[in-house]
Amino acid sequence: MLKIRNYINGELIAPISGNYLDNINPSIGKVYSLIPDSDENDVQLATQAALAAFPTWSKTPKEKRSRILQKIAFLIEDNLDKLAEAESIDNGKPLKLAKTVDIPRAASNFNFYATAILHFASESHSMEDTAINYTLREPIGVCGCISPWNLPLYLFSWKIAPALAVGNTVVAKPSEITPMTAYLLSEICMEAGLPKGVLNIVHGLGHKVGAAITSHPDIPVISFTGGTVTGKQIISTAGPMFKKLSLELGGKNPNIIFDDCNFEDALRTTVHSSFANQGQICLCGSRIFVQKGIYEKFKKAFVDKVKDLKIGNPFDENTNIGAVVSQPHLEKVLSYVELAKQEGGKILCGGNRVLLDGKFSEGYYLQPTIIEGLAFNCRTNQEEIFGPVVTIMPFETEEEVLMMANSTKYGLASSVWTENLKKAHRVAANLHVGIVWVNTWLLRDLRTPFGGVKQSGVGREGGFEALHFFTEPKNICIKL
Ligand code: NAD
Repeated sequence: MLKIRNYINGELIAPISGNYLDNINPSIGKVYSLIPDSDENDVQLATQAALAAFPTWSKTPKEKRSRILQKIAFLIEDNLDKLAEAESIDNGKPLKLAKTVDIPRAASNFNFYATAILHFASESHSMEDTAINYTLREPIGVCGCISPWNLPLYLFSWKIAPALAVGNTVVAKPSEITPMTAYLLSEICMEAGLPKGVLNIVHGLGHKVGAAITSHPDIPVISFTGGTVTGKQIISTAGPMFKKLSLELGGKNPNIIFDDCNFEDALRTTVHSSFANQGQICLCGSRIFVQKGIYEKFKKAFVDKVKDLKIGNPFDENTNIGAVVSQPHLEKVLSYVELAKQEGGKILCGGNRVLLDGKFSEGYYLQPTIIEGLAFNCRTNQEEIFGPVVTIMPFETEEEVLMMANSTKYGLASSVWTENLKKAHRVAANLHVGIVWVNTWLLRDLRTPFGGVKQSGVGREGGFEALHFFTEPKNICIKL
């Protein structure tokens, strides 16, 4: 059975303890590889390598750093099939999603920051005849990058690429639930000629490896994507150490559909925004608010379309819904369906585990589920489920829907559906979220700020925001 290895100081090595964890293929519910059960000793080794690599990498001309990162991007593209298959096996997502979204985006992340760094300039502030200020934006040192399981290589590379591009070195930890493509990335980095110690990947559990990165005194920057509860733990450790923090956390995104929307567009996209990647995208809309005039018509059409989604083998071209990521996650999502019933919800479709035949009989499959009849402020409508479960609710006025949409502790993303331009601007401005899509969903320009408000996060990723985060500005004032 394949044993994944840590990538430390340019080499693939076993964890110091010699211990491993099981890595499960969720589409068949079986162990298929082993992951290093690393601990603080491996993190220490990785941090020493990253510290040693920093002086040279941070002084390497940006053109050279750019070329190496572009080579990584090309190698990801060259290995599209291999990486997409690995992602699908590790995560349970449909292969076609991994091929068209996850892996191409990982390549784009490297390419984007490899080229962004060539155009990144710092500011100058003139005080007329008195003085001139200029701002240096310098790499900081060793950055800790910790990522989740839902978009494994996509989100891992979204942090690593900007951190490396500006000249930092990195100690990174992918999710222990989906480590495979990060492991394959280490092989790609070696092939691309990334100098040793510049990127170090330590596999293992959050409370061991993640906690050791977060608390390490020589790692002054932490970029984290994951759950809000984990984010709080990270703040409580890293905050008192005055570390620079970027936290991309959970969501409970509202999807607001007005009477005057383009019905077919709204319908088609809502099916996608609810159930893509089995609803396991932080940006998925999980609370669907539909204006009274079209509520019944929309509900019926939505349920009909969702019932047609094909659940099954992620490698099958026609599969729309693959497996959810793990048995505990399957149980968590099902517990929310039970909660919804207790809270008075009516299951319009789905609600159950799906037992497939043969090889897939022990896989973690769930029916896409739509629930009606719940109050906007019940637990089902306030807590993040992060699976193929959405609620649908009618509303009458703009004021009412804004109140309900803004009622959760989260504030990541939202979709608004209307053909009325003034209303679109007004609603977008009044939503308490970091990202609003109008008449679309998950349309991404990598230059734009990405992140959430309230308990959905602290800070922004994307574009120059990430280059600013991963550098330290220093102002120099010269009297004329
Ligand atoms: P998680 O918080 O359980 O784990 C995320 C990462 O943190 C993993 O690598 C994990 O091993 C590590 N970790 C766990 N405990 C840790 C600790 N004490 N210290 C340091 N690291 C620790 O999240 P998950 O279940 O992997 O991912 C799902 C969550 O991620 C959802 O809440 C989802 O909304 C969120 N998410 C947010 C975004 C965003 O951009 N805002 C994107 C994707 C996912």
